[in-house]
Amino acid sequence: MKIAIIGGGASGLMAAVTITETSKAEVTVIERNTAPGRKILLTGGGRCNLTTGLTDIHEILSRYPRGGRFLSSAMRRFPPAAVCDWFEVHRMPLKTEDDNRVFPRSNNGHDVVSVFKHLLIPPQARLMTNTSVSSVTKQSDGQFVINLSKRVHPLLVDRLIIATGGQAYRQTGSTGDGYTFAAALGHTITELAPSLSGLVVSERWPVKLSGLSFTSAKLTAKHNHRFSLTGPLILTHNGLSGPAIFALSSLIAHQHFSPTEPLDLTIDLFPEQNREELLNQLTATTANGPRRNFRNVLSELVPKRLADIICRELKTDPDRNAAEAGRCEFRRVVDWLKAIPLHLVGRRAGEEFVTAGGVSLSEVNPSTMESKICPGLFLVGEVLDIDGFTGGFNLQAAWCTGRLAGEHATKKLTND
Ligand SMILES: Cc1cc2nc3c(=O)[nH]c(=O)nc-3n(C[C@H](O)[C@H](O)[C@H](O)COP(=O)(O)OP(=O)(O)OC[C@H]3O[C@@H](n4cnc5c(N)ncnc54)[C@H](O)[C@@H]3O)c2cc1C
Repeated sequence: MKIAIIGGGASGLMAAVTITETSKAEVTVIERNTAPGRKILLTGGGRCNLTTGLTDIHEILSRYPRGGRFLSSAMRRFPPAAVCDWFEVHRMPLKTEDDNRVFPRSNNGHDVVSVFKHLLIPPQARLMTNTSVSSVTKQSDGQFVINLSKRVHPLLVDRLIIATGGQAYRQTGSTGDGYTFAAALGHTITELAPSLSGLVVSERWPVKLSGLSFTSAKLTAKHNHRFSLTGPLILTHNGLSGPAIFALSSLIAHQHFSPTEPLDLTIDLFPEQNREELLNQLTATTANGPRRNFRNVLSELVPKRLADIICRELKTDPDRNAAEAGRCEFRRVVDWLKAIPLHLVGRRAGEEFVTAGGVSLSEVNPSTMESKICPGLFLVGEVLDIDGFTGGFNLQAAWCTGRLAGEHATKKLTND
């Protein structure tokens, strides 16, 4: 049996190695780059956060805003713990950090890619790099015809696995070609949108606080739905970033907003403290230093730069005596800090980590990753309408869907 895999990224490499581990089928991985796994090398800031240390499957599946339910079979078959065992067996020691992110102990993404390179050995496995697939069709005899750049004759195979990824970070080779191939073979592509990106607000003051970070901020975005979550927030020269913003960008991936149609966002910078507690803190600080000015008292609660912004936003004199300003003025500050009003007007285009949307999951068998529309075709990884939060969940989805397809692609098809 001959199998072709389009895409030498995480999901394609795992599918290929699984085929060699479980069968004698010939497998060819076709990769447009000069080497496989280019995106893997970028992940986790080069350290490759390859999966999560979480073990509860329900909790793991809840980290996928789209595709969690579909992933259930693949995740049970090849859960994060099994992924870790697999890499360790292939002599790549791992470590789990306090926030449950799993990395190679070497902190080097190259080691992850090397595992696959060593396992894909000719003649059973062939890595065809520097080769782009231009189109795919299926013949009436069931074989797939794969047209390649730089090659006169197409490749003919019995099974095809599309592992072309999404269209985020297109410079890595993931340009969204898989959507065209899947559509040509009869599949529906759901709406595509960037996910896991920084967000841009219309207000100018957050940019002035570039570099400030908060370990815990509660974000609430309101449109037709209300999206709320708590996590670390970073203010950058471009707008808002950090894990909480990435997660929010994922939840609102399919919401439309723009400078003319902004999305309301409120930020609570003190989610663990109620208004009374904050107010008491400010009045106690004032009582301890009755001559202090308003800005100085606020600076005991928030960074100095933010204290200045608060005074400006609330149009209150920063140099006035804090004791004279009184509790009523502090209440305004607390109300602001508990619900800072902002307007989302855009995403950091081209900087998103993943693509939301993709091949419709209703058209793929979740137990095998085989297409329900085109027998012999398998779809894996980010090309599917699956995306997760940061923390190793996207690579985990790539490993487990790739694994399942690799196990089933060599089997006799039910309607053969
Ligand atoms: C900067 C960044 C950091 C990230 N960090 C993390 C992280 O730490 N943890 C995590 O879990 N996820 C992370 N992700 C997401 C994760 O990398 C992807 O979800 C995952 O790599 C998807 O795997 P894939 O196999 O589906 O696709 P990809 O890894 O995108 O691989 C697809 C491959 O197909 C090839 N290809 C496409 N079209 C063709 C064609 N026509 N012909 C031949 N080859 C083709 C491409 O060149 C590419 O190599 C990050 C993403 C980015 C961009």
